[in-house]
Amino acid sequence: MNTPFSIAIHGGAGTILREQMTPELETQIRSALEASVRAGHKILEQGGDALDAVIEAVKVLEDSPHFNAGKGSVLTSKEMVEMDASVMHGKQMEAGAVAGVRHIKNPIELARDVMKNSNHVLLIGEGAEEFAFEQGYEYTEQDYFYTDRRYDQLQSMKEKGLFALSESKYPDDNKYGTVGAVALDKQGNLAAATSTGGVTNKKYGRVGDSSIIGAGTFAENGNVAVSTTGMGEFFIRKCVASDVAARMRYLQEDVKTASESVIQGELKTMGGEGGLIALDSQGSISYAMNSSGMYRAGIDTQGRIEIKIYAAES
Ligand code: ASP
Repeated sequence: MNTPFSIAIHGGAGTILREQMTPELETQIRSALEASVRAGHKILEQGGDALDAVIEAVKVLEDSPHFNAGKGSVLTSKEMVEMDASVMHGKQMEAGAVAGVRHIKNPIELARDVMKNSNHVLLIGEGAEEFAFEQGYEYTEQDYFYTDRRYDQLQSMKEKGLFALSESKYPDDNKYGTVGAVALDKQGNLAAATSTGGVTNKKYGRVGDSSIIGAGTFAENGNVAVSTTGMGEFFIRKCVASDVAARMRYLQEDVKTASESVIQGELKTMGGEGGLIALDSQGSISYAMNSSGMYRAGIDTQGRIEIKIYAAES
């Protein structure tokens, strides 16, 4: 019997308008999304674990300067990069997360190691890095993460006295660039991973939903895996990822209905712009967003790939 497996990824939701996009940028984004989803899918195809697949997919996006995670992360008010990440494996519902890390090349790997090699779920800042270096991680200079684009973005936010989104010369700056992945493996395991630099011009050690299990990331075998992107303050308050799972568990909603109910419901009314990817125990993928776009891609149980940017893309 063929056991189903599938994977979906996202590279952030927000205002992404066709008329503001350049063909060059669109090509680069689409090829990064493709490389990510294929990297994760390859692991599933070879019989690997869903957690390894989502981590591999997220690493590709962390290493690309086009997304707000790892290299290319947004800058804090102090012109630093501070990253949040989390993972969850649906079998035992184990989870790991880090927040406010500054010198770890791939925070998603550290989140996994918190899950596997510590007794804890969430480590922050210096403590998270101390744990990383004990685990053999290399110290990565801030310069590695820095891009001119994020510097310009920060200046435009500072001038306006805003945080989070900016309007600057880059065509896709009115969006959240968090990255994430969800997968179902051949053993029936569901896993989710999310990684981010957070929001531009953030202060005071601000942490978003991407490192909060149940808000930005959730996975439960037999039910669903979810990764979110959007204005974290709203996603934390609405426990978005676990709310999708709860609707499926208690109301028997299918993955699409549950995802749409959460994203288009109170979250939107409250002002929580963003989106999510979710994948159920049969491998069905749902992409939901209340913004004009979300970078996203998936390979379904039939092996068909799709890569999309705009909400209205069919
Ligand atoms: N959710 C992230 C945060 O609030 C931002 C994003 O999705 O890009 O930190």
